[in-house]
Amino acid sequence: MNNLAEIFGADVFNGATMKAMVAPEVYEKFVQLSKEGGEITREIADPIAAAMKEWAIGKGATHFTHVFQPYIISIHAEKHDSFCSLPNAEGKVEADFSGKDLMMGEPDASSFPSGGLRQTSAARGYTVWDITSPAYVKEKILCIPTVFCSYTGEALDTKTPLLRSMDAVNEQGLRLLKLFGNTTATKVTSYVGPEQEFFLVDRKLWEQRPDLVYAGRTLFGTLPPKGQEMDDQYFSSIPTRIKAYLNDLNEQLWRLGITAKTEHKEVAPGQYEVAPIFSISTVALDSNYVLMDALKKTAAKHDLVCLLHEKPYAGVNGSGKHNNWSIGADDGTNFFKPGKEPHQNKLFLLVLACLTKAVDQNAVLLRASASNAGNDHRLGANEAPPAIISMYLGDQVGDVVDQILENGVATHSLHTGKLDLGVSTLPVLDKDPTDRNRTSPFAFTGNRFEFRMVASSNSIGDANTVLNTMMADVFCEACDALEGVENFDAAVDKYIYETLNAHQRVIFNGNGYSEEWPLEAAKRGLPNKKSVVDALPAYTYDGTVKMFEKFHVLTRSELEARENILEEQYSGIINIEAKTMVYMASNLIEPAVIKYVTELARSISTIQKACPGADTSVQEDALVKISALLAETKAASDAIDVAVAYASSKEDSKSIARAYRDQVFSQMAVLRNAVDTLEGLVAKEAWPMPTYGDLLFLD
Ligand code: ADP
Ligand code: MG
Repeated sequence: MNNLAEIFGADVFNGATMKAMVAPEVYEKFVQLSKEGGEITREIADPIAAAMKEWAIGKGATHFTHVFQPYIISIHAEKHDSFCSLPNAEGKVEADFSGKDLMMGEPDASSFPSGGLRQTSAARGYTVWDITSPAYVKEKILCIPTVFCSYTGEALDTKTPLLRSMDAVNEQGLRLLKLFGNTTATKVTSYVGPEQEFFLVDRKLWEQRPDLVYAGRTLFGTLPPKGQEMDDQYFSSIPTRIKAYLNDLNEQLWRLGITAKTEHKEVAPGQYEVAPIFSISTVALDSNYVLMDALKKTAAKHDLVCLLHEKPYAGVNGSGKHNNWSIGADDGTNFFKPGKEPHQNKLFLLVLACLTKAVDQNAVLLRASASNAGNDHRLGANEAPPAIISMYLGDQVGDVVDQILENGVATHSLHTGKLDLGVSTLPVLDKDPTDRNRTSPFAFTGNRFEFRMVASSNSIGDANTVLNTMMADVFCEACDALEGVENFDAAVDKYIYETLNAHQRVIFNGNGYSEEWPLEAAKRGLPNKKSVVDALPAYTYDGTVKMFEKFHVLTRSELEARENILEEQYSGIINIEAKTMVYMASNLIEPAVIKYVTELARSISTIQKACPGADTSVQEDALVKISALLAETKAASDAIDVAVAYASSKEDSKSIARAYRDQVFSQMAVLRNAVDTLEGLVAKEAWPMPTYGDLLFLD
């Protein structure tokens, strides 16, 4: 491997590269536009495109593409155009790429989900250059990050609303800073550090599991004698084969300017995590797509398959995408940094009160923004945060909030002191003011909040669009109330107290996995939407529509479209899973089991013939049990067919999704139960596919 510092960003058309290749006034204008927005003209785009083309061709590129993220597809879309021009009279071509090609593309939008925003006959869609995210060369293609919208300007991707929400946070965040006399900040933005969890599985074994191939998760299978109960996986030594894969991955990511930082084994066997250093939310969104793509493609090179699914295996932990999120200004202010004496940091306390209100008011929307069919296997099970949204503040900030709730103001901050292990050769260190709480969906971690619900295969777009928009909303209300008041200090204290007091129910520092918490949460009136299908209507709650429209992030019709697409996606996923199960049951499992019981029956008669009266009770018992389960398997898979037909006969996307959950999904559990019991009774070599034991333990 090359020197990290040398290769980092080598394939990115970053500021330094652009600066060296275009006229100073072009570069200055570009920087100004990236910061303040405004119209990009051909005078700017043409010279930048020329520089980009020259640079990319120097890197061996033959094509360019507008990269975009159509709503809600996990892997980004790209359509490659070569630089080839029309041949001249002598039959020669030139490399062709203009400012127009850079600024706008026009892919046929009709084959992407639109949720009713656009009829198939009205196919035109546009990709528009996002100047805040740098272009790069990957696999000989110049990749230009873009947003994707319809002919009439509606967002058809995950990024447009995120960009809009960042404008909203900028405007309202600056207002809030001004309240406190800040004159140095000129831009407020949101940041994200997404931690990506995933599983790796051997490609040859994967090929033999239609459920992994079609559904991305196992639909049958039971744990071998060892699972994750010994807690011996997390942070354990990474197998050599996997380390070679990670080295390959890291080098690609670094070349693409992605700050791959952390890598480690996760809790379940075969599970890993990688995390970059946090960056501006839209850049983090783009980087996360590149990361997911690289995880998959690099796996193929190493005879592995990367599973991004939230729950590839029953019985061991699933995967999430912990969304570390903060808001900050260009003068270095971090809105979520409490400082040494949080009780004196009025900006932090006001932001915290606002956040508490926003989380409480948008709990179901937050839950919906982090959901998909796969995540329903995690949220609420004892591994991921529950489906109930609550906030963890930790000891120090939690204590300040308690003081405010009790006395109206806080007068002191707890200090945790030193970590002294009593060994003279070990240093004595300062402790963090807060412990961690892995059971909380929304946990304060010292200078950021970690939204731990986000699904591992999902875009981080929706979750961060909601986070930013709800913050703009509550900042706006705080500014409306506090701008121009006579006694600012007293008014701020009062606002903080009243807001925390009104929304304190959402603060919970206890164990989110405990059996008592859902009961306590119900007493507090906190929503607990166990299924994504019940959470999705939050996209069009009155409050949601009002909030998104107020800040021009999404219109009612865009929100309706999103809800519709997500419902269709849910039904689509369950449909694929159901059909895959039926296929596996009929074409793999039943034939293999029939063969096995036939042999068993033959063996009984052979033994009886050879030695009349011999004890064949074990075989007979197995024969009876397995035959009964075989009949159960057949009945359950027939019942799935009936349920699927019923669900698909429903009229609208909401009823279809509900029917898939209530009829099909529940019937899938019946089939799985029968097959998994069979797996425990049939000889290993007779079982028609690799088992959990084969798949999970790669080392
Ligand atoms: P954990 O121990 O929680 O698994 P990791 O190191 O895996 O932590 O990931 C933490 C993530 O949080 C990293 O991406 C890191 O860059 C990010 N992060 C740190 N500070 C901030 C911040 N102020 N805003 C947003 N993200 C941050
Ligand atoms: Mg981590």
